[in-house]
Amino acid sequence: MIPAAPAPQHAPVPATPPTPRWQQLWRDAVRDPRELLAQLGLDAVAGGLGLSDDAAVQFPLRVPQGFIARMRHGDPHDPLLRQVLPLDAEMQPMPGFSLDAVGDGAAKAGHGVIRKYRGRALLIATGSCAIHCRYCFRRHFPYAEETAAAAGWRDAVDAIAADAGIDEVILSGGDPWSLATPKLAELTDALAQVPHLKRLRIHTRLPVVLPERVDEALLAWLSALPWPVTVVLHANHANEFDPAVDAALARLRGAGALLLNQAVLLRGVNDSVDALAALSERGHAAGVLPYYLHQLDRVQGSAHFEVPDDVALQLHRELAARLSGYLVPKLVREVAGDPGKRPLTYA
Ligand SMILES: *Cc1c(COP(=O)(O)O)cnc(C)c1O
Ligand code: SF4
Repeated sequence: MIPAAPAPQHAPVPATPPTPRWQQLWRDAVRDPRELLAQLGLDAVAGGLGLSDDAAVQFPLRVPQGFIARMRHGDPHDPLLRQVLPLDAEMQPMPGFSLDAVGDGAAKAGHGVIRKYRGRALLIATGSCAIHCRYCFRRHFPYAEETAAAAGWRDAVDAIAADAGIDEVILSGGDPWSLATPKLAELTDALAQVPHLKRLRIHTRLPVVLPERVDEALLAWLSALPWPVTVVLHANHANEFDPAVDAALARLRGAGALLLNQAVLLRGVNDSVDALAALSERGHAAGVLPYYLHQLDRVQGSAHFEVPDDVALQLHRELAARLSGYLVPKLVREVAGDPGKRPLTYA
């Protein structure tokens, strides 16, 4: 006997995945400098800060609420605020500061792929970032045409597959984790077909500026990758860490990622031994080892952040005299045409 067909249920609703929470928080980022200052109780002194509408047009302000919450209320010199506030100083042309300071324009090897160093291919995954850092070379790089995601990954993956000398792919940008997780999975599924890849590296500021990005979907993707994964974070000041960041970093480590940090040496942000030592120690408490301390790339609009080489070297020497060896980052500069980051040395 044929059992009666079950009564028809409601037709299955095609699953539209809910918008991940981090994407909502991303959209809620503050984009108006005056709103940022008002939140920090600084509207009264806005005039004296050198705020620039022109700079904000050239490279708009963008900062998530969670990062603003880590700024000190009422302090116009807050080291986190200084990293994001568009200032008049950015609009003053400075000799020696250019649009393509690190020679990326000349090093392209495929759509969104930059091959400068032996064994490593850097993939400009996307041009988007959750935060806009005023010192960043990104303010000028023509990302719209150059990202690998915009080219559908295919050209980038083909370029990597065609070069057996590449054993490490570095996802960079912009911030690669600004892409939705299924989009990242498309890329890594294609890269998994490339037999000569041994390592994957991800350069991202998102776990620090928007720790909600480290959600279950991202962790599932990360845990399933077929290579050892190194995540190079970007925090410039100890105050960028808070309990939500700590929790996100613990989740990343739980998924098997090795965590490193790169910072940029920035005047008025971290140009003191105390600030640099605190950054290394605070990172270590969250399971992160320092990797690089970069001398600023000389991009137009960033000159007011520059720390002279002799000062940088002196800071680095004092840092090495204070901290465990593994808490001392390498002090480097990127020089176009060099085979790797160039260590700063005494003249
Ligand atoms: C910085 C950089 C790398 C990575 O260099 P490491 O010293 O291995 O961290 C790779 N490719 C490009 C184009 C870079 O700028
Ligand atoms: S690429 Fe990094 S440094 Fe530049 S704006 Fe994005 S997050 Fe900031």
